[in-house]
Amino acid sequence: MKYTIEAKSYGSYDVVVCGGGTAGCFAAIAAARGGVKTLLIERSFKVGGMLTVGNAGITKFTEHCRDVDVYKSEVLDVLATEPERVQVVRGTPHEFVDRLLARGGGVGTNGVAGSYIFSEKAAAEMTLLEMLDEAGVTVLYDTRICLANSEDGILKNIVVCNKDGFAEINAKYFIDCTGDADVAAQAGVPFRVGASEYDVEKGGAKTVGELQHMGAMHRVRGVDFEKLFAYLEENPDRFFQHEFGVMSLENVKESYRNGEMCVFRVMADVPGIPGRRPVQFYNLPEKDEAIILGHYAGYHGCGIDAFTLSDAQKTLQLNTKKMKEYLRAIPGLENLEFIYIPDVGVRETRHIEGEYTITEIDVLSSKRFEDSVACGGHPIDIHPLPPEIENIDLNHWRFYIPYRVMLPKGIDNLLIAGRAISATRMASGAIRPTAQCMALGEAAGVATAILTENGGAARDIDIKLLQENLKKNGAIF
Ligand SMILES: Cc1cc2nc3c(=O)[nH]c(=O)nc-3n(C[C@H](O)[C@H](O)[C@H](O)COP(=O)(O)OP(=O)(O)OC[C@H]3O[C@@H](n4cnc5c(N)ncnc54)[C@H](O)[C@@H]3O)c2cc1C
Repeated sequence: MKYTIEAKSYGSYDVVVCGGGTAGCFAAIAAARGGVKTLLIERSFKVGGMLTVGNAGITKFTEHCRDVDVYKSEVLDVLATEPERVQVVRGTPHEFVDRLLARGGGVGTNGVAGSYIFSEKAAAEMTLLEMLDEAGVTVLYDTRICLANSEDGILKNIVVCNKDGFAEINAKYFIDCTGDADVAAQAGVPFRVGASEYDVEKGGAKTVGELQHMGAMHRVRGVDFEKLFAYLEENPDRFFQHEFGVMSLENVKESYRNGEMCVFRVMADVPGIPGRRPVQFYNLPEKDEAIILGHYAGYHGCGIDAFTLSDAQKTLQLNTKKMKEYLRAIPGLENLEFIYIPDVGVRETRHIEGEYTITEIDVLSSKRFEDSVACGGHPIDIHPLPPEIENIDLNHWRFYIPYRVMLPKGIDNLLIAGRAISATRMASGAIRPTAQCMALGEAAGVATAILTENGGAARDIDIKLLQENLKKNGAIF
């Protein structure tokens, strides 16, 4: 069915950032700090996306070490004194976590900002808002981008829908930070949803189109951490080391007692489910609060199917009743209460086809790129991984991300930042964590500020100038 709609005009901007989430906030701050007229459009009344309304952690700012002792002594302990040796993300994301920790809104490993951070969502949102406001970004809330009109390789305008009805917005450059590449898809950029044939061939998925499950990171209170630690000490088979946070129970206890970030898994009995199921715990600034990710907090389905998405939200909300039942049976969790049930989190939908598709080989071999604009240190978060990848030595490991993964094929004035960049499924599993999305957002924002000044297609940017400007921000690439 075809409709004709009446759309008013919201005028023209230098840069329009679509989606005010993890990548979008940093894209908008970077563009506006570059002196260009920037509009940030967000469908909800909250900025931060998964970082705030999703309760996700802010990971990972440092190199990774698989070995718990190496990680502690050669990364975490080095952070406080020589961060430049071990950090992989700095720049504006680091400034954000510095400000967040300074206001008591988060906890970091060893108490250091540039580490593995968990935050209290209202404080994270306030920090982002202050930074957007100081940079001079215009924020348009409660507005969904529903159409994107491209012609001859140029994205002419987007059409949004809100309380005003429909409105058209023009810009010199657009950055798609919707997570699902909504704008790119509307503009005709080629994409795939979930795993490709390549991914299946390489063992990164069983079937074409396979998606990582959706989920919810719940915020709870009433956790008696000391009692839980005592229980884990007496029952070591109930403790499971978190593979990315890499902390022994001793490290966990010490960090918690110092008011620093700790992460661990408890192996729980879930009625009716054979075997034990892991529940991840991340502490928060309030001593009895935690973010948890446990059984019944996952949902299989496609996050760009409207009814599926709604069912996921409803199911995950209702599931908290079942979660409470099995969690309260664990010593230390008898008084646990859910205090914030987040919006359903989507891990994977569209992957755009870009000027370069970064692969898991690039990531795991730490391949360098002439047009590198960001680094990462997060291992591939996809399960199960092929054994040859699972067993690779990842001590003192980091990877590099080229600018071209943000450039969609066929459109000159559109960049994509966040989880929808051009990547194989396994590479995306390492890049989609928040710190990398923030760093890519910053790179896209700095790029559009340069492009606004100099003109031309995003692929023809002066890459040295982009890298120089990123370096001035303190970014690592
Ligand atoms: C359950 C779960 C747990 C996770 N845990 C962690 C973790 O502990 N650590 C970690 O580092 N990473 C974690 N991740 C991954 C990480 O949070 C995300 O991959 C990352 O935040 C994605 O950033 P983004 O900017 O691409 O998308 P988002 O942060 O989701 O931002 C997208 C924004 O765009 C807006 N938007 C979407 N469509 C439109 C539209 N059409 N119009 C207007 N606005 C729109 C959304 O409202 C949102 O604000 C987790 C992910 C999930 C799902």
